[in-house]
Amino acid sequence: MNFFKRLFTKSEPDTQPRAGTLIKCPRCLGKGHVDKEDIRRLEQELSWNPGRCVYCNGFGKVEADMISKVAVNEEYFTTALTQKERLKVIAGDPKALDRMQKHNERRATFIADITRMYFMENMEVEDIVEVYLQQDKGLSPTAYQQRKEELTDYIRKVASRKK
Ligand SMILES: [Zn+2]
Repeated sequence: MNFFKRLFTKSEPDTQPRAGTLIKCPRCLGKGHVDKEDIRRLEQELSWNPGRCVYCNGFGKVEADMISKVAVNEEYFTTALTQKERLKVIAGDPKALDRMQKHNERRATFIADITRMYFMENMEVEDIVEVYLQQDKGLSPTAYQQRKEELTDYIRKVASRKK
């Protein structure tokens, strides 16, 4: 190809879905919020609670190329994120992706530890709660009680999975 022709030829039209092409949000199926059924379908029972859909930011639609940027059932991608962090994950910011990976690893370890204590070491839910509450001695009595209830609920959820 002629040098100038090559230099000045515009790139081929993008065959990927164009930014701006909207599709129904695959996480909440267009509702704008994630309910228990969505959580079950996406197998995030141990990580998510019903609420606003962060995948579409509550709009019910996402740009078609969103799916290639963030997995529909990405555990980290929830309302716990700030809008700034949400955008960084979508943009593939390396530090944000690193935080995402670390979070997911911690969660996986947490679940694996509970599973081991409950199913292999035959510990009671209350005893496992105590193990984690050891780290929370500095909390106020109210926060301590709340943490205890959250831990109890969570550990029961993990324990009920394999029965
Ligand atoms: Zn959605």
